[in-house]
Amino acid sequence: MPYAKCPTCGQISHYAVKNLEQWHKKHNPDFKETTVLPCFGCWKELKEGDIVCVLSKPNEKSLAEAGGVGTITAIHNNVKTPSYEVKSVLPNGKIKWTGVFKRNQIRYEIALNKK
Ligand SMILES: [Zn+2]
Repeated sequence: MPYAKCPTCGQISHYAVKNLEQWHKKHNPDFKETTVLPCFGCWKELKEGDIVCVLSKPNEKSLAEAGGVGTITAIHNNVKTPSYEVKSVLPNGKIKWTGVFKRNQIRYEIALNKK
């Protein structure tokens, strides 16, 4: 089973591939040592209500830290670089942090979105 490294979050993903030769031709035509492919969480189109993991702080002042988890409350995609408003809520219902992130600063978390 081939694997590829995500350029955004660095996660290694394994792929179930039928035709290995074709897959390598398509995704790694230069035969680099490591195939580079965005993982599902960094590639997926996000929607409001999705739970995401923070990969990097949106700005210096933000209280959000890498590894934090929040929910998308709004998406601004009528501009060239879409941004995502994310809110993290404490178990007591108080807001832990909010932030406006670019797509490459957050990752969709499959395990956290199973309802
Ligand atoms: Zn990724």
